[in-house]
Amino acid sequence: MSTLPACSKCNSEYTYEDNGMYICPECAHEWPVQQAAAESAEEGGKVYRDSAGNVLQDGDTVTVIKDLKLKGSAGTIKVGTKVKNIRLVDSDHDIDCKIDGFGAMSLKTEFVKKV
Ligand SMILES: [Zn+2]
Repeated sequence: MSTLPACSKCNSEYTYEDNGMYICPECAHEWPVQQAAAESAEEGGKVYRDSAGNVLQDGDTVTVIKDLKLKGSAGTIKVGTKVKNIRLVDSDHDIDCKIDGFGAMSLKTEFVKKV
């Protein structure tokens, strides 16, 4: 059974759900169920996980877990390269970052591990 929230008016624990509304039998206060659900869904958003399943956040430091050949140049980002202050983006790649000696880069979360 899901946990029902206590009444926001009288703090009663005997609230029940009916037709998309939470209802308090003690003070007859009613409030919509969907409001709470929509708010938490928005907060959740997209979750980014590294190769080990750790949740990544803006500003995290990660290391590269595999040699990454750079498109259009001869460079390769080596395994173990530290990438500081990543920024998560919802695009064809997952991470915007800057790597010393390479400049602005785009990475995928599956090729990094959180430090
Ligand atoms: Zn109440």
